[in-house]
Amino acid sequence: MAASSKNARTTSTTQKFFCSCGGEVKMKTLFEKGKVKNLAECEKCKKTERRPSDFK
Ligand SMILES: [Zn+2]
Repeated sequence: MAASSKNARTTSTTQKFFCSCGGEVKMKTLFEKGKVKNLAECEKCKKTERRPSDFK
């Protein structure tokens, strides 16, 4: 019980990513053709990548 709650805390840690333009990268959830798609979008230049870690 104690071990599983410790795991849950680690996975819920939010990491911040920043675009090369200096804007903050935010996660977006899109619905496309009945499928859920997660996209990372820079809130400043509106550039999108599949993963926030692709902003470099
Ligand atoms: Zn940007």
